[in-house]
Amino acid sequence: MGHFTKLRHQLETYLDKEQVEEVYQAYLLAAKAHKGQRRRTGDPYIAHPVAVARILADMRLDMQSIIAAILHDVIEDTSIDKSSVASRFGEQVAELVDGVTKLTQIKFESKAEAQAEYFRKMVLAMARDIRVILVKLADRLHNMRTLGALNPSKRRRIAKETLEIYAPIASRLGMYNFRVEFEDLGFAAYHPTRYRVLSQAVKKARGNRREILKIIEQALREGVGSHGIAADAISGREKHLYSIYKKMRNKRLSFSEVMDVYGFRVVVDSIDTCYRVLGMVHQIYKPVPERFKDYIAIPKANGYQSLHTTLFGPYGVPIEIQIRTQEMHNMAENGIAAHWLYKDSVGASEAQVRAREWLTRLLEMQQSTGNSLEFIESVKIDLFPDEVYVFTPKGDIMELPTGATAVDFAYAVHSDVGNTCVAAKIDKRLAPLSTQLSNGQTVEVVSAPGARPNPAWLNFVVTGKARSNIRHYLKSQRRTESTTLGQRLIEEMLSYYSKTIDDIAGENLAKVLVEAGFNNIEELYESTGLGNQMPMVIARRLLGYDEDVAATELERSSDAPPAPLVVRGSEGLVVSIASCCRPIPGDPIVGVLQPGRGLEIHVDDCPKVAEIRHNPDKCVPARWEEDVKGEFEVDLRLSVVNQRGVLASIAAAIADAESNIDDIRVGQRDERYSLVDITLAVRDRTHLARIMRRVRRMKVVNKISRI
Ligand code: MN
Repeated sequence: MGHFTKLRHQLETYLDKEQVEEVYQAYLLAAKAHKGQRRRTGDPYIAHPVAVARILADMRLDMQSIIAAILHDVIEDTSIDKSSVASRFGEQVAELVDGVTKLTQIKFESKAEAQAEYFRKMVLAMARDIRVILVKLADRLHNMRTLGALNPSKRRRIAKETLEIYAPIASRLGMYNFRVEFEDLGFAAYHPTRYRVLSQAVKKARGNRREILKIIEQALREGVGSHGIAADAISGREKHLYSIYKKMRNKRLSFSEVMDVYGFRVVVDSIDTCYRVLGMVHQIYKPVPERFKDYIAIPKANGYQSLHTTLFGPYGVPIEIQIRTQEMHNMAENGIAAHWLYKDSVGASEAQVRAREWLTRLLEMQQSTGNSLEFIESVKIDLFPDEVYVFTPKGDIMELPTGATAVDFAYAVHSDVGNTCVAAKIDKRLAPLSTQLSNGQTVEVVSAPGARPNPAWLNFVVTGKARSNIRHYLKSQRRTESTTLGQRLIEEMLSYYSKTIDDIAGENLAKVLVEAGFNNIEELYESTGLGNQMPMVIARRLLGYDEDVAATELERSSDAPPAPLVVRGSEGLVVSIASCCRPIPGDPIVGVLQPGRGLEIHVDDCPKVAEIRHNPDKCVPARWEEDVKGEFEVDLRLSVVNQRGVLASIAAAIADAESNIDDIRVGQRDERYSLVDITLAVRDRTHLARIMRRVRRMKVVNKISRI
């Protein structure tokens, strides 16, 4: 039984005899079940689950996880089912195997969808039992190690998935060793050429660096020793290839800029010593200002703890130093797996708590997001945590990803606070909601009852929580607004026939609802407001009029045309201003129903509506409210003299008339004149007329007209 021997040796170091025997029984079962199956590498299949079990045994995972690893492919690939696993090895093992199997089975139409759904399933499985993910990660790790046997396209696909999903998850769970191996194997398989070139360059550079590394290490050792501090390890640390590649790509650094940094790690016995070593290294080499980070006092989201500092080394080379305790070091390398490796370790339980918190957050998020793509988009941000730490007015620390804004902060406090925030005070000064937060700031949210999320926030929020909450709110907001609009539209059409909703016979209503597949009148309103139903048609059918009677005939039978819909311009999400003609208050307007999007307001003579202008099924008469407040965009075309400074003087004239230019496009016309198209914001037609008068008076302006 060659396959099992090495695993047995590993298990005997930490499991008792009966447990090892139980694992052996699982092995016998799996070996029998997979008999005759071979992997692409040519090895008998059983070599794979045993290799996976060995990876987990390295982390001293418990017996159940080891058995699950050995059996992880039997449900999928052999005739053994979940219940027989349960009856032989217990419910927990069966659940673990089943969890891993389910992650393997998902198949989808689109790759993006598959990936998203896969990820969602993974999160749910993790939340039930974190060991599922450890087995799955080990499974993937062994597959990555034996990736060479697959054809290139499959290899690339798996490598990409590993880089996009598995490596970030390992990182999020603090499992640095897994992450590094995922990333380097994934990088090698996904970008084979880049990998080869870069690894050769790194090899060469490392040779050149050896001398200077020795000098620094010597200096650090002497410094620590002379202060009587016992450092367990002072070692130069090399970045792994993928992180060098990422730094070059994301931060646009040259190879030598990335390689020019010398990394060292000092591992000591206690937290107190960490800070003493910090003071000491600052005496040996001058620290680079503002590069010190205290992840001991404020651990990273995945539980990572260390002191980080950057020093000016000999010859001016930058030295990055990490200082940590042995416990923190174990945590940094193995994350949640450290829990099994070092049962008594305090740091490990910290990682477990952090992982739990994270999973709970993910679960909450998955409940408020509509589909898995949305979910993964939200989670992705969480998976690449570069955090900022800010304080609440009470002094509590909040942890947010880099780039987080006051709105993200508000949602982190509570979704109600986020939904009603109107401004923020950062270090006691009022600041716009879009302000990006920096470490150490104290943030207070100003909220107003009745305030609501603005769709524009989606342009700057960075946390998954804020994003999903805003979307969720807008979705329900959209529903309310489309229901209200739909009701208004139908009621106005009814009033055209001098009827109200109370005049509708019950059986007519029931018939309309059944035919259109709605459960109640609210749904009918909502669909109408979204532009999916034609209000005129609905009104006629509600009144029981024969559908074959032409609308125009009925129109003649009525005295007055339908009352126009009153538009404020700020209805929200279901009434929009058409961008083709950009009507402004004062313009005669007409509403056009756009299926799925609601009502679009056009200028009465917009060429786009010319054909359907008199079709009451598609067009809704509309007029502006008497006293519209707000700003509306309008396009002007100017012909101006080619002359230096002309645009500046036009901009000044427009500002003088209390308007702002949103966009400006210049095109040459001939030697004397240029064409200038300007988009600007106005209150209404009167305001526009004033601006145009003001601009037309300028000598450099030859012509001005609204487009
Ligand atoms: Mn497998």
